[in-house]
Amino acid sequence: MLFKNNEYVDNQCTFNCDKCGLCCQHLRDFGDLYHDLDDGTGCCRYYDSRTRLCRIYEIRPLKCRVEEGYSTYFNSISFSEYLAKTRLGCMFLKEKYGSHEQNKV
Ligand code: SF4
Ligand code: SF4
Repeated sequence: MLFKNNEYVDNQCTFNCDKCGLCCQHLRDFGDLYHDLDDGTGCCRYYDSRTRLCRIYEIRPLKCRVEEGYSTYFNSISFSEYLAKTRLGCMFLKEKYGSHEQNKV
């Protein structure tokens, strides 16, 4: 598995984060896993709507990190399956909320 410029690649799947910020703005779409980060609106308290980036990126929780999140929370499935599900989750958010929200400031 390789990681370069926000792209994860293994022998079966590629996942590329385009930094749209939709996952950080819609924590409730992931059930209760991120409830401790919820600012009361469903958005993460550490999300910067101006830059669309994480304000605590270097020390963000394990559940916000692809590899560590997999090892800690999701390792009952293969890493390829996990990447595929992650990619589907991103597509779901983009379809549900659309590009207008990606540009919300
Ligand atoms: S929704 Fe997906 S593509 Fe957008 S920031 Fe989150 S992980 Fe990256
Ligand atoms: S801590 Fe950072 S990466 Fe995690 S949900 Fe909040 S803004 Fe997103």
